[in-house]
Amino acid sequence: KAVKPRSNQQLIDDWIQQYRPFTIQGKNASYIPALEKVNSSHLGISIIEPDGSIIKSGDWKVVFTLQSISKVISFIVACMHHGIPYVLERVDLEPTGDPFDSIIRLEMHKLGKPLNPMINAGAITVSSILPGADSKAKLDSVLLLMEKMVGKSFTYNEEVFLSEWKTANRNRALAYYLKETGYLEIEVEEALEVYLKQCSIEVTTEDIALMGLVLAQDGYHPIRKEQILPKEVARLAKSLMLTCGVYNNSGRFAAFIGIPSKTGVSGGVMAAVPPRVRQEASPLLDGCGIGIYGPAIDEYGSSVAGVFLLEKIAKTWDLSIF
Ligand code: GLN
Repeated sequence: KAVKPRSNQQLIDDWIQQYRPFTIQGKNASYIPALEKVNSSHLGISIIEPDGSIIKSGDWKVVFTLQSISKVISFIVACMHHGIPYVLERVDLEPTGDPFDSIIRLEMHKLGKPLNPMINAGAITVSSILPGADSKAKLDSVLLLMEKMVGKSFTYNEEVFLSEWKTANRNRALAYYLKETGYLEIEVEEALEVYLKQCSIEVTTEDIALMGLVLAQDGYHPIRKEQILPKEVARLAKSLMLTCGVYNNSGRFAAFIGIPSKTGVSGGVMAAVPPRVRQEASPLLDGCGIGIYGPAIDEYGSSVAGVFLLEKIAKTWDLSIF
């Protein structure tokens, strides 16, 4: 008797079980005290397709903070408000091959211009030019775009924010350096407040899967049938996710997974799988958004089990953009 093939949902359930043990290869981010204490064996995923069908598995419902995934959203807000050229005068588009919080290249590149908006130096600069006269208005601009993309309202977690605010010595150093070179046009503490609050915005895998889906569809919300952000901005954001989204692991990530993705130290992974021209192997026909959460992270600051899981999905369903 022929064995019935496993459904996508069953496969994802199997893979969650298979990859959960890999969480012990990683560690929760400890430099942000509030992140250290969460359950490090969590692993969850949501996959959303353009018709709204959704696969959810494992700890998909657990709430976590965006951390560096917020850098994609703030970059998009800045580009939508000021236009792309204005933003690119203040932050470059080049991968660094360095860790996310590295300071070394600020002194080596174009008189202090941050190399890209996915590393902390570039993201702090972007946060400083967000629309609004004060830190509250700037943060609200990020929350508002997320609300438009996901269709619900968001808030930041005060405990996670304060926990990082008190220990953010390296980010303060980056911000002071940027102030000195003229790439920070507002006060250091104000820019840091915006940046660290946007990092503390609370989400689930479903929320980031939906944001990934909108990016995958070039800024178009296929369920609400509405263009949320310009195509050029969505493409720019995806190119940055691919080349810089996983910092000094971006090359390997592109080679073996090949999906524009952004990871954060809280263990979130937001992946935008664009629609494919040739679709033989993939059951996910028209592109999709994938959100993963697994707080045990690797040396690059990405979810250990989450990256294994995404690689398994990308290989089995032939999702690499290459
Ligand atoms: N808030 C974190 C930081 O600035 C974000 C880093 C990350 O997720 N890679 O250090």
